[in-house]
Amino acid sequence: MVHYVCTGSCDGESNDSGVCEAKFCSKEGRPLVPCECEDGLHAGAGQKTDSEDATD
Ligand SMILES: [Zn+2]
Ligand SMILES: [Zn+2]
Repeated sequence: MVHYVCTGSCDGESNDSGVCEAKFCSKEGRPLVPCECEDGLHAGAGQKTDSEDATD
């Protein structure tokens, strides 16, 4: 099942798409990255890094 994770310093995770709301996070206000891992490690989520800027 897809979930959304923050690739910043907060390691945030959500069941819904959105942006990071952690004020202390290096990626506060940045879009959460969709992830479909089943082990909770979010191994594929870090691959997008900051490429969101190019597509939006
Ligand atoms: Zn964050
Ligand atoms: Zn994951």
